Amino acid sequence: MSKPLIMTPGPTYVHEDVRRAMLNDIGNPDLEERFFEFYKETCERLKRLLKTENDVIIMSGEGILGLEAACASIIEPGDRVLCIDNGIFGNGFGCYVKMYGGEPEFLKFDYREAVDVNVVEDFLKKDHNFKAATLVHCETPSGISNPVGDICKMLKRYGILSIVDSVSAVGGETLETDEWNIDIVLGGSQKCISAPPGLTFLSISHDAWNAILKRKSPVIGYYCNLSLWKSWYEDRWFPYTQPVSDIYALRAAADRLLGDQLRIERHRNIANAVRAALVNSGLELYPKNGFSNTVTTFFVPHGTTFGDIYNMMLNEHNILIGGSFGFLKDKVIRIGHMGENCYQDKISKTLDALDRTFEKLNIDLQSKLYSSCQYVPSPNSHF
Ligand SMILES: *Cc1c(COP(=O)(O)O)cnc(C)c1O
Repeated sequence: MSKPLIMTPGPTYVHEDVRRAMLNDIGNPDLEERFFEFYKETCERLKRLLKTENDVIIMSGEGILGLEAACASIIEPGDRVLCIDNGIFGNGFGCYVKMYGGEPEFLKFDYREAVDVNVVEDFLKKDHNFKAATLVHCETPSGISNPVGDICKMLKRYGILSIVDSVSAVGGETLETDEWNIDIVLGGSQKCISAPPGLTFLSISHDAWNAILKRKSPVIGYYCNLSLWKSWYEDRWFPYTQPVSDIYALRAAADRLLGDQLRIERHRNIANAVRAALVNSGLELYPKNGFSNTVTTFFVPHGTTFGDIYNMMLNEHNILIGGSFGFLKDKVIRIGHMGENCYQDKISKTLDALDRTFEKLNIDLQSKLYSSCQYVPSPNSHF
């Protein structure tokens, strides 16, 4: 059987051109001038995706390294950090804060809803004595996108540094790092960017560099210490040998994404169409609002199990769909319509296979997913 169609919310499908880029000559990235230039040019591509003039660095390690490096470098023992929490990743940020001696204060929301900006505002009016705040752009396990722009602008007014995990959003959702005043935003190679897993990238604002370079206590650890990256270009020196082949792939993938001027609209239109098809068929979306444009999460219908759906999709239709983890394990199904997965032909194939799967499992839908999926953007869409 041929390779399955990958429709998971990361790792996503890696295009052949991207895989081929990994075959390029390795050279010696510690010494060769051309590699420093290549790395710098790749960072420029990422700046365009992140919409920032801030410094961008690429680190060897997937998204989690980015989260940890941001926390390790910004947070000092005793620092109060506001952890905005409406999902598994938002909550998990608190662990990194604690690990590096910070004192997390969780601002919790319903896990089926986007963060409410008004609640954040009211909270900050009463208590804004925080060095930093952490938040997640897209909560991938639940498929919820948060209003990062409004929140980060507000945090800046209170002098609070923002650390944003945009691993599963950057490239597929609107992200205006500079306009929104985001101090550190980080992404990963294997979600919307659709490069192989293994890299994270971060943009670091002037205020964030100040906090990192003027710490009273040294950063704990080496690999997560962002201060080592401050002058890599001027010094022609990296803290460790760079994973050349992964960076070749990242560059090729960023070029593919940047080549599509309508990438944000493509994600929005497809996400709208998928959600409308699911709702029309009588299936229930997990989020009540704040629907992500990169991943759609819906409940496993009564009368079947996630395992049955997953296995039938894979064994009979050769399509890999996502489940979830943590408290959502076996409760929901996820369709990752991000990056290379986010094309109409792939979505149609997936919905058609889901129709057949549900039919075989004796799950009655009010209408077929395949035929009710309309890709025309609807100005009246309530999503
Ligand atoms: C994927 C992802 C990460 C990185 O985690 P891994 O699952 O280990 O790749 C971090 N944050 C978010 C929101 C993610 O979706």
